[in-house]
Amino acid sequence: MEHKLRFKDYNEALKQNKLLGLKCKQCGQISASPRIACAKCGSTDFDIIELRGKGKVQTFTSIFVAPEGRESECPYVVALVELEEGPWIMGNLVGVEPDKVTGDIIGKKVKMSSAGVFSGDKYSAGDIARPLFSLEN
Ligand SMILES: [Zn+2]
Repeated sequence: MEHKLRFKDYNEALKQNKLLGLKCKQCGQISASPRIACAKCGSTDFDIIELRGKGKVQTFTSIFVAPEGRESECPYVVALVELEEGPWIMGNLVGVEPDKVTGDIIGKKVKMSSAGVFSGDKYSAGDIARPLFSLEN
């Protein structure tokens, strides 16, 4: 079976600040990352779409101890964001202080401002792009 949206293409698009997703041609379900089959109906028939990168914080955590090889990024905040199109996606939340951020940001609107490119940790194959979200005022 072939990936409609390969991780490599998703990653390359993200480096250009484009957040790609998949829309199921059968049921309309939208997913925010490469996958083989629709989580809702199991179809493998997708269109590639560009997501707006806007959503709200569902939860978050501050990272003070990084995976091996990524110590220089610390500390940082990782948020789970529910996108306006429906899917949930993880990204870094910038512009907040990792040691001061509180649960008050849950439910707040965020926007993908850009993508950060991080070197892989010692177990991954190479550079990886990750969405960077910031709070909308
Ligand atoms: Zn579907």
